[in-house]
Amino acid sequence: MMTAADTLDREIEDLVRVARDHVARHEPITDLRWPDGVRIAVNFTADFDAMLLRRLLNEPPMQLAKGEFGGRVGIWRLIELFDAHGVKATFFTPGRIAELYPDSLRAAARSGHEVADHMWEHHVPKDPALEHDHLRKTMAALESVTGRRPYGTRSWHTQALLVGEGFLYNSHGHASHRPYYIWDAERRSRMLNLPFHYSIDDAMYYSFAWLGSANPAQRLSDTDRVEELWWNAFWQQYQQEGGYLNICLHPFVSGRALRIAMLERLIQRMKRLPGVWFPTCEEVARHCLANHPPRAA
Ligand SMILES: [Zn+2]
Repeated sequence: MMTAADTLDREIEDLVRVARDHVARHEPITDLRWPDGVRIAVNFTADFDAMLLRRLLNEPPMQLAKGEFGGRVGIWRLIELFDAHGVKATFFTPGRIAELYPDSLRAAARSGHEVADHMWEHHVPKDPALEHDHLRKTMAALESVTGRRPYGTRSWHTQALLVGEGFLYNSHGHASHRPYYIWDAERRSRMLNLPFHYSIDDAMYYSFAWLGSANPAQRLSDTDRVEELWWNAFWQQYQQEGGYLNICLHPFVSGRALRIAMLERLIQRMKRLPGVWFPTCEEVARHCLANHPPRAA
């Protein structure tokens, strides 16, 4: 007969197995160094979801319109802000956005920002052939407006498929606070991950009327409070060599004027310090791959 103690032992064994597998699959870059004179790399990233995710969640028209604000106004405000401060950002963009807001993508590319993959319509089909079709369609759609294929992704796409299509990195995991390499569960492929975290994601602080959540779950944070939280995250990383921060924004969330003003204050504070680098994710990825390649397989 299984006693409660036996059950507990089994559960602990399972946890040990998962923890060991995690260690075996993840390769942290332990001695991360940036180009000369750089202490910290700050990736400003924006997921250009506009109304697509909300459509996928079957939200009512008023909510779709909130997403749409990102494509009509928010994206332009972000591009203007980053351009004014010499920040090179990465816009993770669903392929469909190339049909909806092509001018903004052209403008982003012209300013030297990176336009990277964020799935075709913000989801990955289960059927492998259809998944591949979505990835290829997105690559082609983004290239048709920016003149350049995407090398990065923020997605649930199958890693081996991404590697096969020549993608250099995914920015989707949170297993570390710095870039790391990860094997897929089948040990077929290994890829660089540029981690972000929901604690540095605008949607977690400003999500009013979002995802059909009930009123008590709504958040409409004071921008000063968010600025301090994100500044503290930056400062913690700035104090060590090889610091990294990936700030996740959404044009329909951070594109609101008061939040753009907060981002500007935050960027200005960062720029007052020496050794702060604002590259695209692709630049970070190419630096890591060239200077801190994965271990021999
Ligand atoms: Zn998204």
